[in-house]
Amino acid sequence: MTPAVAAAPAAAPFTTPPGHLPAEIVCPSCEAPLHGVAERLQDALRTSESRFRAAFADAGIGMALVDADDCIIEANPALGAMVGRDVSELVRMHIHAFIDPEESARRLYLELVSGERERLRLEKRLRHRDGGTVWTNITVSLIRDGEGRPLCTLAMVEDVSEQRRLGDRLQYQSMHDPLTRLPNRACFFERLAAACDAADDGRRRVGLCYVDLDGFAAVNDTLGHHVGDRLLVAVAARLRERFTGGGRLVARLGGDEFALLVPDSEGGDQLTGLAEELLRVLEEPFEVSGHRLAVTASVGVVERPVRGTTPTELVKDADATLYWSKADGRARWTLYDPDRGAHQMTRQLLATALRPALERGEFAVEFQPLVGLEEGRVHGAEALVRWRHPRFGTLSPDRFIPLAEETGAIVPLGKWVLEESCRQARRWLEEFPAAEVFVSVNLAVRQVWDSDVVADVAGVLERTGLPPRLLQLELTESAVMGPAGRPLQALQALAEMGVRIAIDDFGTGYSNLAYLSRLPVHALKLDGSFVEGFRDPGGDRREADEKIVTAMVRLAHALGLSVTAEGVENAAQAERLRATGCDTAQGWYFARPGPPHRVARMLREGPRAAGGALPGRAGPGGPA
Ligand code: C2E
Ligand code: CA
Ligand code: CA
Repeated sequence: MTPAVAAAPAAAPFTTPPGHLPAEIVCPSCEAPLHGVAERLQDALRTSESRFRAAFADAGIGMALVDADDCIIEANPALGAMVGRDVSELVRMHIHAFIDPEESARRLYLELVSGERERLRLEKRLRHRDGGTVWTNITVSLIRDGEGRPLCTLAMVEDVSEQRRLGDRLQYQSMHDPLTRLPNRACFFERLAAACDAADDGRRRVGLCYVDLDGFAAVNDTLGHHVGDRLLVAVAARLRERFTGGGRLVARLGGDEFALLVPDSEGGDQLTGLAEELLRVLEEPFEVSGHRLAVTASVGVVERPVRGTTPTELVKDADATLYWSKADGRARWTLYDPDRGAHQMTRQLLATALRPALERGEFAVEFQPLVGLEEGRVHGAEALVRWRHPRFGTLSPDRFIPLAEETGAIVPLGKWVLEESCRQARRWLEEFPAAEVFVSVNLAVRQVWDSDVVADVAGVLERTGLPPRLLQLELTESAVMGPAGRPLQALQALAEMGVRIAIDDFGTGYSNLAYLSRLPVHALKLDGSFVEGFRDPGGDRREADEKIVTAMVRLAHALGLSVTAEGVENAAQAERLRATGCDTAQGWYFARPGPPHRVARMLREGPRAAGGALPGRAGPGGPA
């Protein structure tokens, strides 16, 4: 119906050359000439074109017609005003003179001009002639020719800078603290979440310092809230100036609490260094409303790999650590301590965490050699379990064994330790058949009372092929001092099997040797506290402890028990112990608990490799 438009050159769709309509229009069915129709069409076209032209020119929003090569064919004054140019100047300019070419938009645009889509909406910044930018919403529509072929595009451009500014301001307000102008809690959590979500090759680390001013309430109470507020502003300014930059964020979490986020931490040292600096930066007194105010702060520091942690955990731990700093006397920083943290884990949490952790293989057994005091030979090794916790790091058994006992998780855990230890002892036997090295495994009270420990031990020995004489079980006195009955029976059965029984931590409980002598016990392990006194040269304590130990060793020997001393940390202690007649010893002086290959190395090197006053000294992983 509109062949004129269809025939119009793409570069000037508004110019409809009058001569372009056929001079005569015929009836499509009978082909008889239709007089006057061409003239009337011509008129109609002229009117609609001039109406459109008027609308285009007077429109309040910017408009442009753009050809297939992205050049402007026509533009209106509103658009010119937006970008600071005359309409005549805009014509034939390339749109990239105003808009940065952007891949995705370009693709959409191509879809539009190729006719695949009818309309396109974009939010774009236009370049103003003076170098500034204007935020706009642009709607681009396709204009087709009479046959439906894409001809050019019509862009309608709306200036939304004002809305953007308002939106930005609201966004800023929602993310900043109005008093100090620091990022607020919401902003801090957003950035922390982003730090935890960012791409990670497993090596990325994140760190937090939680800062709380000490005694801030007193400032408010004595000098008034106005002074308190000014102090917070001054503190915030100092923190911002010294600690922002390099991707770090200083935020006010509320009240007198601030946080420093290090999204790409280099390690614990970096964070404790920053904490140290935080304290130093705040040390310099603040001049506020005519007052000279000295403030100190407590800082909680958490630093760990991004993998395996969450923002909630980080914040919870930072909070706990800050509390420790306060509790330990304020004006200090404290680094998060997994052991201290684990200690605060609820029983419930631990109970539910222990069993899955066992299934996930988070436990490991370390071995600490028991060394003969006369000849320095490795007689055996005690198995000591560790929890390689993905979040808390390596946890020592003191942190989880007592709770595991309460919850009963000790039963499967203890079984696992037993199996691992016997398998390891069997390997030592294969490699060093003459050494007859035994493994000494701790048994918790509950394992003796609540589980079929006899059947478990028999099963493990059977599976691992370890001769029973190379297994020693360590029980505390309280485990064997119950009412006669089951534990006794169990001990009896184990002893009959050929397994050695040792009383652990001897000297800290009843120390009832007479009673113990009636039980099938083979060895005593003297608690480390006895040996502690041996360190003190010539002191009263040393003399008393030496007498006690000598008497105990003599009595034990008389009852047919061998004696192992624990916690031997230096050569002098080892030498004095040897003089008491004690058989074997265990402690950092000989070796710290470690992986099984260290015990194997000591066995391979033999007693002589050690040197010094006593063989065995400076063994692998030796003195601290
Ligand atoms: P324990 O049986 O008295 O084990 C000796 C503890 O003393 C170990 O602590 C050991 O690392 C530490 N130690 C060794 N040499 C020295 C030294 O020279 N100086 C000092 N100060 N300490 C030394 P660890 O490994 O933390 O074990 C703590 C306790 O946890 C053990 O005390 C034991 O009662 C219990 N435990 C460890 N593993 C197991 C297990 O598999 N099952 C059960 N039921 N309890 C276990
Ligand atoms: Ca033990
Ligand atoms: Ca012990």
